[in-house]
Parts: sequence; C-alpha cells; structure tokens
Amino acid sequence: MSLHHACLSPNTSSTCGGAAHDARDARAAESAGAQAGFGQAQIEAECEEVFDELIHSIIELCKVDSVESEPTDTAPYGEGCLKALQKALSISKDLGFATDTFQNMVGSVAIGPDTSDYIGLVGHVDVVSADGVWTTPPFEPDIRDGRIYARGVLDNKGPMLTSLFAVHVLDRLGYDFPLQVKVLFGTNEETGMEDMPTYFQSHPYPLYGWTPDCKFPVVYAERGRFKLRIQPKNANNEALYTFLNSYILNTPSKEKSLGIDYVSEEFGLNQVRKVELKHVDDTLSLEIVDSYPADVKLEDLLDEIKKRCSEDLTLEVLEHLEPVFFPKDSVLVSSLTRGYEMVMGVHEPPVPTTGGTYAKVVKNIVPFGPSFKGQKDIAHLPDEWMNIEDIRKILKIYSVSLWQLCEAIR
Ligand SMILES: [Zn+2]
Repeated sequence: MSLHHACLSPNTSSTCGGAAHDARDARAAESAGAQAGFGQAQIEAECEEVFDELIHSIIELCKVDSVESEPTDTAPYGEGCLKALQKALSISKDLGFATDTFQNMVGSVAIGPDTSDYIGLVGHVDVVSADGVWTTPPFEPDIRDGRIYARGVLDNKGPMLTSLFAVHVLDRLGYDFPLQVKVLFGTNEETGMEDMPTYFQSHPYPLYGWTPDCKFPVVYAERGRFKLRIQPKNANNEALYTFLNSYILNTPSKEKSLGIDYVSEEFGLNQVRKVELKHVDDTLSLEIVDSYPADVKLEDLLDEIKKRCSEDLTLEVLEHLEPVFFPKDSVLVSSLTRGYEMVMGVHEPPVPTTGGTYAKVVKNIVPFGPSFKGQKDIAHLPDEWMNIEDIRKILKIYSVSLWQLCEAIR
C-alpha cells in the first residue's frame, strides 16, 4: 500500500507562520539594505580586525572538556559543561556585552536596544565524548595544516563564537541595531536537548535567528521525527507479530517505511530509522523511530499506520519533534541567503536537511552553517577539525547576513 500525495495536506505548522510575520515580511523586503554609509566592504574589513582574537577565543573555549558528566547541585549537566558555559560568557563579557545565565543550563548575551522582539543566535558548548584515537589530545587544541584540531571546534564551539563575533563586528562599527540580538549558549544539545526547551518555558522565542550547527547555505527545512510504541491489547502477541512481519521485516519497498511509501520530491521519503522489540512492564512492545519529510503531518502518518494495525494493537507516541519548515521567500531565509551569496559570490538556494538541531525545539530559527559542501562526518569523530580560513569566511558570512537580516526587519 502506498500513501499518495493527495492524502497528505501540506504541513501548515511552519515555525515562522502568523499574520504578524507576514506584515513584517512585506515591509522588510522594501527596506533591505536601507541604512546608508554602511556596507559589506566595511564589515568584511572589520572581520579581519577581530579575526585573531576570535581564533584565540575558540582555542581557549576548546580547552574545556565539556562532555556531559554527573550533575551537581549547581551544574545540571556536570562541571565540564558549566565551565564551558562560564568561559563562553567571560569571552562575551570581554567583548563588552551583558551576560546572564539561566539555571546554569543556558547562557545569554544581549546586544543592542532592549526590545522584546529579538534575533536569536542559538548553539551549544557541550560536546560528544572524545573516545577513539586522536593525533593530539582532544582538549589541547592543535593547529596544523591550516586547521584547528580539537573536540568541539566544529560542533559547536567554533561556530558559536563566530556568531558572537559577528555581532561584535557590527557593534564595533557602531551599527544601529533595530532590535536586540541575543546569543544563547546551550549546554545539553548532544545528550538530551532539555536545556533550550526548559529555558523557553519562561522566555520568549526569538523573532528570527539561526543555529550554526548544520551546513551551508541556509537550511530551510528539517525532517520530522517520532518514536512510536505499539503494544498488543489483552496479551494478543499474534497481532503484533503480524504487524512486525508485514510492515517491518518483509516490507514490500526497499526502504523501511511501514509500507507508507510517501516520497516528497523536495524532502525525501518516509523512513524508519530504528526498530526495537522489547518488554515494557511485561508487555511485548514494538518501538519504532521514524523520520518523515517536512511537508507531512504526524496525524496523517499515524492514520496510515493505524490502517495497518489490527484493532488488538494500541499505539502511543513517545516522542515527537516537529519538522522545521520556512518558506524560501520568508524574510529570514531570504535575508540569510542574500548575506551568504554576497560574501561567497555564488548563487546557492536554500537546502533541506535530514539532521536535527536546536531548530527543532527553538521556534523561528534556521540552521545556517558551519560546514561547507564536502565537509561531512567530521563533527563527532576523533580529530575533529575546522579550517582557519573557513572560520574567516564564516565570520564574514555571519556578519554580513546578520546585517542583511537586521536591515530587512528595520
Ligand atoms: Zn551540535
């Protein structure tokens, strides 16, 4: 059985929807680039001025081992994560910015006028474990062949400080920010992503923003993901085996898809990523992690799955991360794309991604950088690196793009 396009209405739960945005979008398009006497050349020259200090700061932050460890009374994700957060905030203070911390989970740096709407640059300073064979110790950053090698240099300390320094560049030039910019450092991205959802329970979401934790150019869509538990009622295990055999073990399509062969030209196909058969409270349970295209709704997928289940089965969604989707012509996507193209001198339209970033849990932000084409599978492996000349380029991209976004909002 396949699910046809017509069965699925487009996902309208875009994270940047709403009438307020639309009005703003219209205004913004007209005024982009309006502030006189302030240009790309000036911004890029200022990037050169602060570049050495940026590299120094990245090296200092990468010296902190911020793999999650045992929580303490004051450090919810362990001492290392807290130390990295404090280091990032002290670097921010040294640039002259006001800082704040929230439950030692999230650090915030505020720049510009005290407006309620703000631009959020959101990333993390925790890192994945540094197991495996390293050429040089993972927390003793080493420069060789024009690269910095260190755990976390790419994911996500380097790009986060580069985002911070982009704000610093505009600030040094005396730029008149139309609204506040907040840099938000998280400490639990790699091992649970609890930090930002907790923070945003008591803080407003940004109006626009980015997370520098994916790839270039601008990423306008991320796939959705859910975890489903299927259990038999009344210990009727046969019903569960039938589902397992028909839609997991002997699925008619090559891709594991629960028999839901929905393919979106733009966002790929529905895909089962993980299957586990286990006992939960003495009940046989099938747990499935499914990744789905950004133009599909969870309810529609669940309806399709229910059609394939006998009435003797119960379905329970254990986890759900909504897809991320922004129209390509939205203010956010178009402004950042313009900034990227201005610096790179190429035409590169926004792209979708399969990954999951803070954009899943922080409304109104898109993944933007830091990896360029061909730079895959560096982040979580030994000898993680970032090219120094790439950092220079990225600083220029972020600075010019932030300027373009500010001007589009003004
Ligand atoms: Zn990351």
